Amino acid sequence: MHLYGTQTINAKGHLTIGGTDTVELATEYGTPLFVYDIQLFRERARAFQQTFEQQKIGYQVAYASKAFSSIAIYQVAAEENLSLDVVSGGELYTAIKAGFPKEKIHFHGNNKSEAELRMAFEEEIGCIVVDNFYEIDQLKKLSEQLERPMNILLRVTPGISAHTHDYITTGQEDSKFGFDLNNGQADKAFAETVHHAFLKVMGLHCHIGSQIFDTAAFRMASEKLVKKMAEWKEQYEYTCPVLNLGGGFGIRYTEEDQPLAPSEYVKEMIQTVKTVSADAGFDVPEIWIEPGRSLIGDAGTTLYTVGSTKEVPGTRQYIAVDGGMSDNIRPALYGAKYSSLLANKANAELTKQYTVAGKCCESGDKLIEQAQLPAAEPGDILSMFCTGAYGYSMASNYNRLARPAVVFVENGEHQLVIKRESYEDLIKQDVSYNPQVTRR
Ligand SMILES: *Cc1c(COP(=O)(O)O)cnc(C)c1O
Repeated sequence: MHLYGTQTINAKGHLTIGGTDTVELATEYGTPLFVYDIQLFRERARAFQQTFEQQKIGYQVAYASKAFSSIAIYQVAAEENLSLDVVSGGELYTAIKAGFPKEKIHFHGNNKSEAELRMAFEEEIGCIVVDNFYEIDQLKKLSEQLERPMNILLRVTPGISAHTHDYITTGQEDSKFGFDLNNGQADKAFAETVHHAFLKVMGLHCHIGSQIFDTAAFRMASEKLVKKMAEWKEQYEYTCPVLNLGGGFGIRYTEEDQPLAPSEYVKEMIQTVKTVSADAGFDVPEIWIEPGRSLIGDAGTTLYTVGSTKEVPGTRQYIAVDGGMSDNIRPALYGAKYSSLLANKANAELTKQYTVAGKCCESGDKLIEQAQLPAAEPGDILSMFCTGAYGYSMASNYNRLARPAVVFVENGEHQLVIKRESYEDLIKQDVSYNPQVTRR
């Protein structure tokens, strides 16, 4: 059995996280419940930062907050001196409400609205990662109209497909994101922005995929982007000071996943950037990275309560839990795999193989296809590991299920950071039908 971060099993045979008993957490807050191991999040952040410090290179580590966005996690990210990626006005608003340092906020997205861009200018955020020509036009207009400066990075697709699941690969040329590096689009984008009075081109950005285990793709991307910036220096006598290599560092969901330590990916990137820069006579740029999953993924655990069971004789045995695709759509969406444990029977022998089903009205609502567990009974607490990234942030109210609560645990203490939705919350935006309005 693999435990993550501060997880242990206590004398009662219960799973603990951050020094708190998860069975007690389930009783106190109800289930489904997201539990975040904040010490582990801090350790992950520091490991990335230390690697850059040791290699003596300018850097920013930006938490890609679409993985899990909330006021409280933004406040912890600020404590850890992280920068922050946001991809919508909603995430930006949350960051501002959290008091996150605005100059360290980076705004992403392939279709930012005018209102979102205007908000970015008015809040004077750190930079906008520009995705397309329409956005360049909008940024020029807005910056001239507001007479405000803005740092920009140009997002490019370097034509490298990292070996991962197709649905979550964005580095290929056939991608909805960014300027193509190979067919002249990136050059055109640079030419259109480099001399602009208010837009300051900081450099290039790429994000080649997610859940990547191999360093080769990162090395190839680093090389291509540095070479392009060196080429522009020759051509325009303009040195881009920043290279942003995105996120996508793989984590261990199950024993099938064998990630390198995060520092290993970063070391290889830095080495490549240094070598290629030296060869091209280019000043080593600052390196920015954007880990999402690898910062927050294994810090999150979901607790569910086991309810009904069903046996399909000779085929499989189902156990159903009180959540499902409404709080974690990744298994249904990508066939994502997870590991689990019965938190109240953490030392018991794993004598059964179950399919863990959710409670949503979809046959595909299965959380774990094959879970090795002790014999399960109604009322047992199932802990599903590594749900910290793209779990709560992709949660929905499908079937009008209320979204779970989220608690942070650290040093033996626990605190509620997102309340469980109530039935009242579910109808909060509903407006009663008025037959008078459409009566003829
Ligand atoms: C999603 C995303 C990330 C984070 O990806 P992870 O796989 O969670 O590390 C980083 N940068 C960009 C641009 C993204 O879209």
